[in-house]
Amino acid sequence: MRIRQRSEDGGEGRAAVATHSTISAAFSVADVERERWLFITPHDDDVVLGAGMLLAHSARAGVRTTVCVVTDGRMGYCRADQREDIVSIRGAETERAMEILGGADIRRLEYPDCDLPNHAGRRRIAGGTASGVGSGGAVGSSAGAGRGGATLEAPDPRGGHSGLQNSLTALLRDLRPTRVFVPTGADYHPDHQIVYRELLISLFHATGAVWPELGAPLDAPPSLYEMAIYCDFPAPPTLKVEGSEEAFAAKLEAIAVFASQEQISAIVEGVRAAGPFEYFREVRFSLYDSRHYAELFRGDETP
Ligand SMILES: [Zn+2]
Repeated sequence: MRIRQRSEDGGEGRAAVATHSTISAAFSVADVERERWLFITPHDDDVVLGAGMLLAHSARAGVRTTVCVVTDGRMGYCRADQREDIVSIRGAETERAMEILGGADIRRLEYPDCDLPNHAGRRRIAGGTASGVGSGGAVGSSAGAGRGGATLEAPDPRGGHSGLQNSLTALLRDLRPTRVFVPTGADYHPDHQIVYRELLISLFHATGAVWPELGAPLDAPPSLYEMAIYCDFPAPPTLKVEGSEEAFAAKLEAIAVFASQEQISAIVEGVRAAGPFEYFREVRFSLYDSRHYAELFRGDETP
C-alpha cells in the first residue's frame, strides 16, 4: 500500500507530492489507538465504492471505524418483488461488505431514501421532550403535514427531535471522531448533496454549545475529507491511495455483495478496470475573517 499526498506548496504553482507507506505516516497519526474514523454514506454501497480500500487498510492498521448509513435504501429495488424487502436486504448486504473490509461498526439512521430534502434541518417530534438522547421514537412531526398532507416520518429520534442536523450532531458528539469522510457535495444525487451540506453545518453545531441534550460539545472539529462516488471532485484531490492486491480484491468482493443492485457486475468490472486507486480531498473550513480581505484594498492611504 502507498498513499501519495499532494500539497499546494511545490513552488511555481506546482503541487508537492509526498509518498507514505503507512496509514500513520499519511495522516500524521502519532497514536493509532486514539484515532476514530467516521465514514458517512448516504446509501449503503457509496462508502464501499469510494473508500473500500482505505477501509481495509485502516482496519488492518488498527483504526477504530464507524460507517454511518444515512438512508434506509427503500428506493434501491430493481425488481418489483424486492420492493417490500429491499431495506432488510440492503442492511444485510452492508453487514457482509463491512465484514469483508475489516469490520467497521455500522450505524443506520434510517432516513427515507430519495426523500432527504424533507429531512434537512431539525424539528421537534410531536409530543417529544428534550430529555435525553434516544428518547422518543414517535412518528409524526410538529412541523405539521408534509407534502400532500401526509405526516412526515421522524427517523432517528434523539432528544425529542428528528432531522439530519439533529442526527449528525448527536452522532458526532457521541463518536467524537478524529476524521470524517463523506461523498463530495458535487455529486448529482440530491441525497449526496444534502448529506454533505447537513454534515458541514452539523460539524459546527457539534463543536458549539447548542442543543445540549445531544451531548457534550466537541473540543475541536475533526479533519474532513471528501470522497468521489459518481462525479468528479469539485477541486483536485489531495490524497491518492494505491491499494495492495489484497485490499483491492477485498473491495471488489465487497462491491459484489450488493447483488440486489442489478447493475452491480458492471460496476465491479468498471472498478477492476480502473485499478487499485482511490482519491480523497481534505476540506479546509474557510470561516470569514475580515483580515483576509484587507490587503485587497490597500492603495491611497490618505484619510
Ligand atoms: Zn448514493
